Amino acid sequence: MIETDIIIVGAGPTGLFAVFEAGLLKLRCHLIDGLPQPGGQLTELYPKKPIFDIPGYPSVGAGELIDNLMEQIKQFEPGFTLNEVAETIEKLEDGTFIVTTNKGTKHHGKAVAIAGGLGSFEPRKPLIDNIAFYEDKGVEYFVKNPDQFKGKKIVIAGGGDSALDWSIFLADVAEEVTLVHRRNEFRGALDSVEKAQALKNQGKINLITPAEITEIHGTDKVTGVTIVVEGQEPQVKTCDYFIPLFGLTPKLGPIANWGLEIEKNAIKVNNALDYQTNIEGIYAIGDINIYPGKLKLILCGFHEATLMCQSIYNKLNPGKKFVLKYTTVSGIDGFDGSRK
Ligand code: FAD
Repeated sequence: MIETDIIIVGAGPTGLFAVFEAGLLKLRCHLIDGLPQPGGQLTELYPKKPIFDIPGYPSVGAGELIDNLMEQIKQFEPGFTLNEVAETIEKLEDGTFIVTTNKGTKHHGKAVAIAGGLGSFEPRKPLIDNIAFYEDKGVEYFVKNPDQFKGKKIVIAGGGDSALDWSIFLADVAEEVTLVHRRNEFRGALDSVEKAQALKNQGKINLITPAEITEIHGTDKVTGVTIVVEGQEPQVKTCDYFIPLFGLTPKLGPIANWGLEIEKNAIKVNNALDYQTNIEGIYAIGDINIYPGKLKLILCGFHEATLMCQSIYNKLNPGKKFVLKYTTVSGIDGFDGSRK
C-alpha cells in the first residue's frame, strides 16, 4: 500500500502543479497516470508546440513546460505510479481513500485530486479480428522500452509523428523496421518524413504505402502480419512485433463509475469554494471538471490546484490558522509549511 496525503489521479500540468502547491503546505502527493510518462496532453499530443499563454513566458514549448514543472516539484519528492489506470476508489470510515489501479497497485490517502484531463487515453486499435489475443504477445500500442526491440523484426503502422519518430529511432535498435501507412502522404512533421525517406534510401527502413495490415499470425505470439498493398496480392511479412501507432482516444474511463456527478462528460465541482465534487474529500481540477464559465486552459488548472490545496490543508488541520504570504517572502528552502 502506497501511503500519501493527496492521491492525484493524472500527471498532466494540473496534477504536477498541485504537487508544488501541496508541497508549500507540507502535504505529500502521489500521482497516478495511465500513460508511461508525465505531462498529459502536452507530452502525448503536442510536445513540440509552443504555448503563448503561460504567465511570464512569451513562448514556451509544451515539452519544456512539463520539464520545468517536473524540476519545480522535484524538491517535494512526489511519488509516481505510471502506466497504470486508477480504476476503483473506496472511501473508508475515517474519511480517507484507497485508490486501486488496473494492475492492482493500492494507494491510501487523506484526499483525492482528480486531474484526469480528457480522461484516460486509450490507444486507437486497428480493426483486426483477433488483435486482443496478441496484446502483450507481440502487439504493442506504446513504445515504453525501446530496448525490448533490440535485434527484433518489427512492423509499425501509422502515418503521424509517433509512427515516424519511432520508426526512425528504432531503425538503429531493431534488426528490421517496416513502416506501413494507408496513404502515400504522412501527417507527421516534414523533417521526420524526410528522415524516414532517407533511411528508406539507405535500406534501413522498409516503407510500404499505400498499404494496410489485415491479419496477424502466430500460435501463441506474433510471428508475422499480412500486408495488403493497394492493387497487389496480400503478402505475409515475418516479424516479432506489430506496433500500431494510430493515436490515442480520450475517454472519461473508470472515473465515470466513482459515484461522482457528471455533466457533459466532465465532473461537476463547487467552483465558488474549492473545486470539491459531490463526494467530500474528492476534488476535480483542470480539464476534467465543469462549472459555470469553465475554460479548459493550463493556467485555469493551475489556479484550481492552488485553491484545492488550501482547502485540503484546512480540512486536515482544523483550527490551525495560516495567513497567506508570498513564497518569495517565506522562501522555499526552510519554508515552515504554513504560508504565514
Ligand atoms: P491532461 O493534460 O489531459 O492530463 C490528464 C492526465 O490524466 C493524462 O495524462 C491522463 O492519462 C491521466 N488520466 C486520466 N484518467 C486517468 C485514470 N483513471 N488513471 C490514470 N490516469 C488518468 N492550453 C493552454 O492553456 N494553452 C495552449 O496553447 C493550449 N494548446 C493546446 C493545443 C492542443 C493541440 C491541445 C489538444 C490542447 C491545448 N491546450 C492548451 C489545452 C491544454 O492542453 C489542457 O488544458 C491541459 O492539458 C489540461 O491539463 P490537465 O492536467 O487538466 O489534463
